[in-house]
Amino acid sequence: MTMNIDAIRNDFPILKTICAGRPAVYFDNAATAQKPLPVLEAAFEYTVRSNGNPHRGAHIFSLAASEAYDGSKETVRRFIGAKSVREIIYTRNTTESLNLVARSWGETHLGPGDKILITIAEHHSDLVPWQRAAEKTGASLEYIYVDKKTGHFLPEDLEKIDDPAVKIFAFAQVSNVLGIDFDPKPLIARAHAHGAAVVLDGAQSVPHKKVDVTDLDCDFFAFSGHKMGSAGGIGVLYGKERFLEEMEPFLMGGDMIDRVEEQETSFAELPMKFEAGTQYVEGAVSLEAAIRYVEAVGFDVIRAQEARLVKRTLEGLQEIPHIQIIGPADPVEKEGLVSFNVEDVHPHDVAQILSAEGICIRTGHHCAEPLHRYLGINASCRASFWFYNTEEEVDYFLEKLKGVRPMMGYGE
Ligand code: PMP
Repeated sequence: MTMNIDAIRNDFPILKTICAGRPAVYFDNAATAQKPLPVLEAAFEYTVRSNGNPHRGAHIFSLAASEAYDGSKETVRRFIGAKSVREIIYTRNTTESLNLVARSWGETHLGPGDKILITIAEHHSDLVPWQRAAEKTGASLEYIYVDKKTGHFLPEDLEKIDDPAVKIFAFAQVSNVLGIDFDPKPLIARAHAHGAAVVLDGAQSVPHKKVDVTDLDCDFFAFSGHKMGSAGGIGVLYGKERFLEEMEPFLMGGDMIDRVEEQETSFAELPMKFEAGTQYVEGAVSLEAAIRYVEAVGFDVIRAQEARLVKRTLEGLQEIPHIQIIGPADPVEKEGLVSFNVEDVHPHDVAQILSAEGICIRTGHHCAEPLHRYLGINASCRASFWFYNTEEEVDYFLEKLKGVRPMMGYGE
């Protein structure tokens, strides 16, 4: 699979930022991706030509805003394979989407004796809301653990999915630390066999691979625009219509109502029931443009480039002594990111040394503190890619990484 990498990189002016005498190497895409010019232009165009409050006025700008907002939803619906735009709710990000489910579904459907099942690999945004739901409802929170070496779910723990007390099973399609795609479809079917609801966190899958929520058959699916090139502050919650229909609204106020009396209110139809207040239309326009951009590049091209980068990184890391790779070391098992540690050197020192060379990686617990503790580490380094990264960047990163231990006073 080939692509014109120079043309693509030209769409991302930030990649030309000079740092340490060369264009900065941006390997923190799992945290947030850079935004291409066509996406920025789409939001700018909307703002200078069409800005208005959607769904609220009869004038041209309100109508234009409504059209932009509603039109973007159709693009999102098609992009993730949902059946209806009634199933697409805009939120601020994955975190808000998951909170919405934990609050509006969790707090009204769970009680003592029920189990919420998540995995030890969850990001805090798919963990803390469930802790809270458990505390509030008396349900218990259970974990599926991973094999500390391979990063895959322990087969004996997968049996927890079959427990009829499990009312909801929430997990990330792709782990933001291990980089594994957990192949959710059979796990979803397994939970459905006894009627449990399934929530899939798609924050790290949607930017890298084609997702079809109808095929996966998940009941809820959450992702963030900013990890796939859109403006920050716009995210998506997909929910099956029959779930969303009977759920309580999350936030109350304007736009989400049907009729308001002094003492009671009836709520708007889906999806507006879950979209209180003036919505982020620029964000919706930006997300739609990001989807179009990603589709124009093509997931086959994106995946091929990321596979090359991951392979080169893993092979290079394995040639450097004193590097511990977190999760599987087989490139086919990594979706666009590699986490690792350098023996004796704190990840923050690694990041600082690399930053001085113009390389941006992420360090810390990556909002997955329980996973790190379970693996017996406090923190890790993570290099995460998108299709605009190059093998030359990977080589530069590996070369500078080799110098980290000597610089800290250790042998190679
Ligand atoms: N889930 C996963 C797997 C993530 O990687 C992230 C972001 N690091 C989130 C959820 C949260 O995304 P956001 O901060 O956009 O809400």
